[in-house]
Order: sequence, then structure tokens, then C-alpha cells
Amino acid sequence: RKRDPILVAKHVTRTFGGINAVDVEYLEVPRHKITALIGPNGAGKTTFFNLLTGFDQPNSGEWTFDGTSLAGVPSYKVARMGMVRTFQLTKVMGKLKVIENMRLGATKQEGEKLSKALFKNVWGGREKEITRHADGLLEKFKLDTKREDYAASLSGGQRKLLEMARALMADPKLVMLDEPMAGVNPALTQSLLDHIRNLKSEGMTVLFVEHDMHMVRNIADWVVVMAEGKIVAEGPPAEVMKDQAVIDAYLGAH
Ligand code: ATP
Repeated sequence: RKRDPILVAKHVTRTFGGINAVDVEYLEVPRHKITALIGPNGAGKTTFFNLLTGFDQPNSGEWTFDGTSLAGVPSYKVARMGMVRTFQLTKVMGKLKVIENMRLGATKQEGEKLSKALFKNVWGGREKEITRHADGLLEKFKLDTKREDYAASLSGGQRKLLEMARALMADPKLVMLDEPMAGVNPALTQSLLDHIRNLKSEGMTVLFVEHDMHMVRNIADWVVVMAEGKIVAEGPPAEVMKDQAVIDAYLGAH
């Protein structure tokens, strides 16, 4: 079968001072699969996410999402095109209610327009439909009882769930999650893993950053290992874990 990756990155580099934070020669993200991006602290995983999603600009490189070049495309347009992400430290808006956070996920607006979206008629007559979509997702993520609560009152794990649910308001094809399980209690971790599996069964592609190699074993179809900005190994989880370069680059740092 012909390969049909949803995302292809070539020669993507980013330096900070003298450090090559990201130096990715080539990466394909397989469509309709769950791919884990793992690597030690400072490997460049978050920086790579930032570059791919328009939150940071590379020194060089090109990448395509679903065949369209994304170099220079601002983050809000990347999201509008169907590639959404979450953050290691969640960016839910604490002073807004849970349901309001969800609605913002559907506005696909830029910067300050986003906050005005709540107060102006930017929904184009879609408000009922958007609210229905939001309520469906809140129920699925078991946040429906928190609907009218301010996001600031949620636990860390619930914020992760809210951010993931909000990202889905954009009807994405590719969902990129930066350490979705970090700082989440064991019960919610299980539920997050289930949600990630569900995204795949609903036809989405998932790329997620995870620190713990053992966490990815049961969920990832494909594992990409990053160290010092470079991709040092990739493959199915069982194979990658046997790879000496991975053990050196990854486990050696622990
Ligand atoms: P972690 O698992 O700790 O999140 P990571 O793999 O996501 O690590 P990055 O956060 O991408 O790694 O960092 C890669 C390198 O780039 C590190 O050396 C980091 O110090 C450096 N770096 C990242 N962002 C900046 C910045 N804004 N300014 C300067 N250096 C940065």
C-alpha cells in the first residue's frame, strides 16, 4: 500500500543562541495512526510542535499538512486547516466558563478577535449548532457537570480534558497533544488514553509528545525518538524500545 502521510517535514531547524533545538532532517506522520514523539528533557519536542503549528518560526525547513505547505502560516490558520494542538501547560481561559472555552474552539478567530468572539455575533448563525457540538463533547469528556463553572476551578487533569475537547471543536484531522498525561492523576490518565484511542477510531490522526517511554507502549502505533533536536529512531513501539541508539539517547539521560 502506498504511504499517505498526513504531515511531512523536511530539514526543519531552529536554533536558540548556539543550540540546535530542532534539527529534523525528515519526518512523516502516518495518517489515521497514533504517533508518539518521545525524548529526554530539552530534546526539542515542544519546539518542534511550536514550529509545525505556527507558534514559532524555523531557521529553515518546509513541511506540508495534507499536501499543503505550512511554512509561514500563522497558528490560527493552521488550526482552521484541521491541525490543532494542545499545550504542555494548558491554555484554557480560567476566567471563562467551561462552555465558553468550548465555544471559542469553534470560532477559528485570530488573537484578540478571539476574546471579542464571545460578545459579538461572530457565529454566523451557527450558535445553536456550535453549542450542541460543545455539549456533546463535554458529555463525552465527562465535563458536562462543569459546564457553567469557571475553567480556573478545574483540576489540572480536567483542564487537559477541556483543552483536548476544545481542540476538537475545530473538527480537526490531526490532533497534536503536548504531554497530555503529564501531571494527571492515574484515573484521569486512563481516561485520557481512552480518549486518544477514540480519536483514532473516529478517523483522526494523533501525534503526541510523551516523556515516559512505557506510557506510549500500549497506545502508539508508531514511535519517533528525538534527542538533541534530531530524530534518532522511529518504528513500532516494541522495535524502538530494543534499539540501542534509543537506549543511549533516551534512557541514558535518566
Ligand atoms: P521537555 O520534555 O522538557 O518539554 P522538549 O523536548 O520539549 O523538552 P524543548 O522545550 O523544545 O525540549 O527545548 C529544546 C531546547 O531548546 C532546549 O535546550 C531549550 O532550553 C531550548 N529552548 C526552547 N525554547 C527556547 C527559547 N524560547 N529560548 C531559548 N532556548 C529555548
